[in-house]
Amino acid sequence: MKQALLEVRGLNKSYPTSKKGFFRRSRIPVLRDVDLSIAPGEVLGLVGESGSGKSTLGKAVLKLIEADSGTIKFDGRDLANLSPEDLRAVRKDIQIIFQDPYASLDPRKSIRAVLSEALDTHQLHMGAKREGRLNELLEMVGLSPEFLGRLPHEFSGGQRQRIGIARAIAVEPRFIVADEAVSALDVSIQAQVLNLLADLREKTGVSILFISHDLSVVRFISDRVMVLYLGRVMEIGRADDIHFSPAHPYTAALVSAEPSLKPSLERMRLTGEIPSPVNPPPGCVFSSRCPYVQDACAAEIPKLRQIEETRFSACIRDNILNGVQ
Ligand code: ADP
Ligand code: MG
Repeated sequence: MKQALLEVRGLNKSYPTSKKGFFRRSRIPVLRDVDLSIAPGEVLGLVGESGSGKSTLGKAVLKLIEADSGTIKFDGRDLANLSPEDLRAVRKDIQIIFQDPYASLDPRKSIRAVLSEALDTHQLHMGAKREGRLNELLEMVGLSPEFLGRLPHEFSGGQRQRIGIARAIAVEPRFIVADEAVSALDVSIQAQVLNLLADLREKTGVSILFISHDLSVVRFISDRVMVLYLGRVMEIGRADDIHFSPAHPYTAALVSAEPSLKPSLERMRLTGEIPSPVNPPPGCVFSSRCPYVQDACAAEIPKLRQIEETRFSACIRDNILNGVQ
């Protein structure tokens, strides 16, 4: 296998709780022993219910937050001990696309100003080359260059997300974190923006960590999918395998919740609420909601283990669940 572009090992992150008391832990664990690697040009999907730690993982990779422990290597180099100069180069190479581009776009700045700012920060396409690059960027995201002078409020949600994408790709990053990038869009617009991201990956070879709570969206664009629950990796494998033959019961529940599931098929319903990360059930953190729970599940936290050549699952059960779809 080619060297990973991004390699995360043993990542842990906790936040302080607001309530402190005698029996209360003073920190909430949000990510637990997370490993992941992404190859150059690969799209890795990250899926899980709200609160499972997806955004925290994305922010840790972007160095927007500091992890408690673990290593993050980008292109073979540990992000923890980079010189300020190298860190600046990495900041160009790793870009983010947000859920809500409106919140991240200054309402008073034209699209020309937004994109120019990104290019100025990294001294790219300066002087006479600038105008051509701005036109090219808008064309790359399917917008007319005539829009350069317009303000964010003059665009639809889907168009604004295209501008957010143009801003991210403007500096020719090697890696993009897309956090719920299409979640606020109508379904028909979602598909267009997903197709755009897929095209850009083809053309530029950029790697993408594609984060969404919606497995049907994630699997559409991803090569591999990683499933997170209460800050732990439940399963990781090829997108089609995850969707058509989920190995972990939690993955099966996510597949079962997809709106596109054929109505004739029985849906697997999860019981109960997602537990508090402060007080997870003993052993497997999913055991309190798992329809297949056995006594042994409480004994210890199941390790993520290889069950097929390209698949890992953190369930003590050996057999892959069939009959979900
Ligand atoms: P997701 O993106 O999967 O919805 P997040 O990473 O946003 O999950 O959050 C995971 C958990 O961490 C949640 O329980 C959330 O309340 C908590 N959390 C996130 N950010 C902070 C913060 N800055 N301070 C305290 N708790 C936080
Ligand atoms: Mg999130």
